[in-house]
Amino acid sequence: MQSDEETDEQSYIVKNLIEQSKVGSHIFVDTEIYLKLLVNQPCIKCGSIELIKKAHKASTHGFILNVIVHCKICGKKTKFNNSNQ
Ligand SMILES: [Zn+2]
Repeated sequence: MQSDEETDEQSYIVKNLIEQSKVGSHIFVDTEIYLKLLVNQPCIKCGSIELIKKAHKASTHGFILNVIVHCKICGKKTKFNNSNQ
């Protein structure tokens, strides 16, 4: 069991780490909401928003979630990830 003091210290450290790393709040966006927004993006080449005409692939690298959307209409592959790089 942790004392209240330890819990406070822990929150303080985590908060500082978030500020230090400038990771911002984007990484803490609910994954489902993030993915829903992502799959609803129109194709950057042809502008298609038809989900059934697109193939989606996801992989993770550490905390980074990579998603590749392949538009079957124009063949464009668009990569998304939840980092700023
Ligand atoms: Zn397209």
